[in-house]
Order: sequence, then C-alpha cells, then structure tokens
Amino acid sequence: MPIVRSPELVASQLRAQEQSALELMAAGVIKIDLTPRQQAAYDDAVRYAAEVDAREREHYAALPARIASENAQVLRDLAAGKLYLANNVGGGRVIHFASCPSVRHQVDRDVAHELELVRDPDEVEGSWHSGSGYDTTAKWPNLMTLDEVEQLHTYRACQRCNPDTRERRKVKDRQPTPSKLTSVGPQRIGREYETPDGAFLGRLISYTVCADSITLHCTEGDYAGGFDATVTLLPKKVPVHAGGESLGTAVPS
Ligand SMILES: [Zn+2]
Repeated sequence: MPIVRSPELVASQLRAQEQSALELMAAGVIKIDLTPRQQAAYDDAVRYAAEVDAREREHYAALPARIASENAQVLRDLAAGKLYLANNVGGGRVIHFASCPSVRHQVDRDVAHELELVRDPDEVEGSWHSGSGYDTTAKWPNLMTLDEVEQLHTYRACQRCNPDTRERRKVKDRQPTPSKLTSVGPQRIGREYETPDGAFLGRLISYTVCADSITLHCTEGDYAGGFDATVTLLPKKVPVHAGGESLGTAVPS
C-alpha cells in the first residue's frame, strides 16, 4: 500500500529542502542561478562570514596567554595589599573582599573568560570580540587597598562577605569646606561663618576690603586675612516648625 503524504507534510518537507539548499549554497557545494545582484550579495556575505571566523580563531588562539597575563596582574595586585574589590553597581560602589564568592568569577580570570550565560547582571560586563556576538567575559577586578577604599566618597559594603571597611554605607561628606575670603560678597550678609580652626564667627554683618586684606565683621567677632586666607561658610539652617524653637535666622536673599 503506497504511503500517502498529507499536504501539510509535503509543505513542511519542501520548506526543509529549501532550508538545506540555502545551507548547502552557503557551503559552496551547490550552485543555483542567481541574478547579478544576488550573486554580489552572496559573495559579500560569504566573505564576511569567513572574516568573522578568522577574527574568532585569532581571539581564541591568543586567549591562553591573555588569561595567564591577567592572572599574573591579579596576583601582583593582591601581593601589593589590594585585598578589596570595588564594583560599580547602579551608580554606586560595592566593596567586597577579593575572596568574596560573588566576585570570584572576576578575580579568577580563567573563570572570567568562560562563556557563562547565566550570571548576576550587576556583576558582569560583556565585551565585543568577534562577530559571534556578545561575550560575557567578567569585568576586570578593580582591586584596592583599604586606604584607597576609604578615600572613596561613597561606597557600601557587600552584605555577603562583610569587608572590614570603616562604614557599612558611606555617604557623601556634607561637612562644609573652607573657601577663600575673596568669595565673600554682599549675598553672604546674614550667613554664618567659622574660622578654618573651627571658631564660630556668627552671622556676617559687613565686610571691609583693603589693598591686601579682607575683614569680616560678624556677630561674634571680626576675622581678617589676606586674599589667600580661607573661611568656612556654614550651611543655611533649617527652621524648626510646629511650634518648636526656631534655630534659623532669616537669610537675606
Ligand atoms: Zn562580597
């Protein structure tokens, strides 16, 4: 009894034949009649595919040496006391011990170069290396000494490895910094100052500019200095509402 093929089966077999014909054509095994433009498109595409292959081969040939040199750099960093790793995550920095399991794929460059498809998106940074697409090589471990970490303006400590940084979450230092006496102008009348030594001067009433010095006349006393001398402008005080004692004074704008 002859086998009867359903129209659906015939259609799907035709599609499969077309598919494999395209693959064979790309492999250079068969020829079909092409218009000049199709021929040009075919030639260019085949050449492009070959170039991509060459770049890939080059990349993978150089990889062992690259991994060895990266591992050597990591060891030099660790030997220099850089035992902390800072990762940029969402605009902030997270500090780990270099031994933290969550950054091991960065510190171990053998692992870093393995193609891993599933990773914490916060802890991975890909790079283009070939036409094959996105390579998920783990980002370079930014190793630091504890001193370097503490010099950062902001950071937070990883909750997993709990590094011994001074703070769990360091926020920007909002302490006022001294500025030059020459920055004092009429708009500062009424603002509070202190000397660089931390002596409170009170509110600025007026100031006198001489040829080589500036004198601030404040509610708690005068303060004079040359044009390079500094003084600290204190932040505007926020008035206490709801019947509380007002700590603030009206500041002329
Ligand atoms: Zn950690």
